[in-house]
Amino acid sequence: MAIRQIRIDDDPILRKKSRVIDEITDRIRDLNADMIETMNEADGVGLAAPQVGILKRMAVIDVGEGPITLINPKILEQDGQALDEEACLSLPEQSGLVRRPKHLIVEATDIEGNQFKMEAEDLLARAVCHELDHLDGVLFIDRVEEPGEESDEEV
Ligand SMILES: [Zn+2]
Repeated sequence: MAIRQIRIDDDPILRKKSRVIDEITDRIRDLNADMIETMNEADGVGLAAPQVGILKRMAVIDVGEGPITLINPKILEQDGQALDEEACLSLPEQSGLVRRPKHLIVEATDIEGNQFKMEAEDLLARAVCHELDHLDGVLFIDRVEEPGEESDEEV
């Protein structure tokens, strides 16, 4: 495993759309392990592959209950709204209030290649939305309603 360099600020790769992962190869498994290590080392709540320069639809999330890998994730259902502070490992100087669904159901493939559905609420739902945005080249600053205070939770 290795720590990968996190792309920041106006690195153009952060604005590109990631490609679907058709097959979970050794290269994808290595990338996944490196992303988890990189997220932990940076004290992040989540990390998407484009943030380490790889345009593939994979993200890792850890809200304190262990790492979750989402490959080719899709939101199936969402409800409620929450306006809360958000920040990003790729935008180290910025934070702001972003509206996200309070609750959602996401479908994805795990690193073993199994499809699964996961319910997420509050911070986990926020992290899922934030990481899915990264896979489409969208950054939280595109969605900020009000600038916020410094946040501890970078995703
Ligand atoms: Zn981010």
